[in-house]
This record gives sequence, structure tokens and C-alpha cells, in this order.
Amino acid sequence: MEEKIVYQSSWIPYTRDQLLEKIKRSMSERRFQHVLGVEETAIELAKRYGEDINMASLAALLHDYGKERSDASYLSLIEKHHCDYIKAYGNNIWHGLLGVELIRHELEVNNDYVLHAVQVHTTGAPHMTLLDKIIFVADYIEPHRHFPGVDTARLLAEQDLNAAVAYELKHTLLHLISENQPVYPLTLEAYNKWVAHI
Ligand code: GDP
Ligand code: FE
Ligand code: FE
Repeated sequence: MEEKIVYQSSWIPYTRDQLLEKIKRSMSERRFQHVLGVEETAIELAKRYGEDINMASLAALLHDYGKERSDASYLSLIEKHHCDYIKAYGNNIWHGLLGVELIRHELEVNNDYVLHAVQVHTTGAPHMTLLDKIIFVADYIEPHRHFPGVDTARLLAEQDLNAAVAYELKHTLLHLISENQPVYPLTLEAYNKWVAHI
């Protein structure tokens, strides 16, 4: 990476290199490469749209931290946080919305702006900050992603970040419905808000 990434000690009490070690240990090599791809893309988008590149890096490295945890560990978090409504949606939804709890406690991250971007990285949300949008889109278009439509998403991300969010929500929804998957209400609420940008 060309630029030096620096995390403020109030965000996280150690360096990017130390964080990389912890992230690497928490997931498969393939997912770790995805996470690095999301970081690279999030930094590019941060430069283009005027976000702090250090926060973009941090949110990107954290975003899938909880992805490989067992269902049992999430079910006990669901019990602890009294969020039964989330139970039916599985790891796809749990690793973002509840993954932030693991990140807060195990990785000692304490920056709500960054954690919110991690929290909504799968579903999107009706109101998204600039960093929320950057992580949501970077996760979809990072260099290791290959699916029909990804080139259109990459082009939109260069031209109009809001249009890229809308495109991603539309195509995620179409995909979920075609696969008979349940749609989490926040994903639908996000679509309803962002459809105006398509
Ligand atoms: P990843 O963690 O890097 O694989 O990417 P994401 O966190 O963005 O998405 C994980 C999976 O969740 C993808 O396959 C999405 O299609 C899926 N997903 C997104 N929204 C929803 C939803 O509302 N309900 C369900 N069941 N899955 C969703
Ligand atoms: Fe994810
Ligand atoms: Fe991801």
C-alpha cells in the first residue's frame, strides 16, 4: 500500500499490522484476501468521495471479522441481546449486525462511525453515512468478486456512489428472491429508500 494508514488510539489500541495478524487468524486465507481487496477498494473510494482513508481501512479490515463464527455462538449472542427477530436469517445477517459486538469486545474497537459501517455492510440501511456506503459498495466490487453485473457496479461506483448503492440493493434483492431466500426487513427498507437513485 502506498500511503501510510494510521489508526487513532481512541479508535483501536494497536496498529494496522497488529490488527492484520488478528484478522488473518480469525478466517480462511481466501476470506482474508477478500478483506484486503475490500480495504484497497474502500481506500480508493474514500479518496474519490472525500472520506478519511484511515477509517475506510479500519472498517474494511473489520467488516467480516465475525463471518466464520459458529451458529451456536451467534445464538447465544441473540439470547444475550434479546434480538429474537434476527434468529431466522442466519449467518449472512448475523455476522454484520451482531459481528460488531465481537469486534467491540474482542478487538477493543471503539469508534461508532466505523462500527456502524460494519454493522450495515450486508443489508445497507435507509440512512447511510459516506463510510457506510463506501464499505457496502467496496464489499461488492473488490477485485476478487466475479459475478454478472460486477463491471456495471464498478463503473457506477466510479461515477456516482449513491447509484452504486442502489444498484447493489436491487441486485441483491433480485438474487435473494430468485433463490427463495428470506429478506431481512432492513434490506427491504434500504431498497425502498435507495430505489430513487437507480
Ligand atoms: P460477504 O460477507 O463478503 O460474503 O458479503 P455480505 O456480507 O455483503 O453478504 C453475505 C450474503 O448475505 C450475500 O450472499 C448476500 O446476498 C446475503 N444477503 C444480503 N442481504 C440479505 C438479506 O436480507 N437476507 C438474507 N438471508 N441474506 C442476505
Ligand atoms: Fe460480510
Ligand atoms: Fe465481505
